[in-house]
Amino acid sequence: MGKASKDKRDIYYRKAKEEGWRARSAFKLLQIDEEFNIFEGVKRVVDLCAAPGSWSQVLSRKLYLPAKAAAQSRDEELPLIVAIDLQPMASIEGVIQVQGDITSARTAEVVIKHFDGCKADLVVCDGAPDVTGLHDMDEFVQSQLILAALTIVTHVLRVGGKFIAKIFRGKDTSLLYCQLKMFFSTVTFAKPKSGRNSSIEAFAVCENYNPPEGFDPNNLYKLLEKAGNPYGDDSDCCSAWLEGPNKLYIPFLACGDLSGYDADQSYPLPKVDADGTSYQSLEPVQPPIAPPYKTAIELKKSSHGMKDV
Ligand code: SAM
Repeated sequence: MGKASKDKRDIYYRKAKEEGWRARSAFKLLQIDEEFNIFEGVKRVVDLCAAPGSWSQVLSRKLYLPAKAAAQSRDEELPLIVAIDLQPMASIEGVIQVQGDITSARTAEVVIKHFDGCKADLVVCDGAPDVTGLHDMDEFVQSQLILAALTIVTHVLRVGGKFIAKIFRGKDTSLLYCQLKMFFSTVTFAKPKSGRNSSIEAFAVCENYNPPEGFDPNNLYKLLEKAGNPYGDDSDCCSAWLEGPNKLYIPFLACGDLSGYDADQSYPLPKVDADGTSYQSLEPVQPPIAPPYKTAIELKKSSHGMKDV
């Protein structure tokens, strides 16, 4: 697909470049905020699986930069934003980067150290494994990533805090809902307008962190096992709020301006740009600095070279 053709078919890809976002996913977090007001009162936030960094950019623009501008007149502490990914990413103002695996206990420890005994108000996780195209497999690996994120949440989030996590809708969505509902008073599954309808991706918006009494974050996995299987016998954890068909059908809430751009539509390119010149496709704002596919491309190039020789 040519660049201009992609600009036409993917309006959010085009808008991301125009507005200086590193990835179109920035719009998903912005649209979740429009619906759920997730940034209100947030002073400390963790961005899990952050590369190439468009969600961290949103956090920087929404929280850090306005506070920095205001801090010049008031003596206020600046928001703390910690971003983690397996991949390195180019720096963003006001964002502390940690390169690490969120499934490892060591990464959780590093995050906790950055908060210096204080707790976060918000944890966001847009993590995704390399998708295989096998939905059951992708959904399973994704849910493991969410549970790793939830482990970090139980260590760093303050009571009353919020957690936003990417999920893949599938047959085990109700189990995941069950597990999240053990820790949060309100859990909503949201589908931002900037995501494609055809995609199984959605976001769990978990509000008011409220872990079970006596909960020990080091015992998370034992506790999650208690959630049981929502299709089978009720466990004590699920039965109170999942009845009958609700076990199978969990509402998804569309968010973002519903009369705004549709991610599944093509939009004609403007004939002339704002400055009067003919339409030019923009380069991506900040390509990944060390993407995992780089080695594969180099190997492919060198094997072509060998054939030419
Ligand atoms: N939110 C990002 C943005 O707006 O730019 C996009 C995130 S991208 C869809 C998914 C990221 O998850 C990738 O950068 C990948 O490296 C990261 N990831 C996957 N598994 C991970 C893990 N176990 N630990 C840390 N990061 C992980």
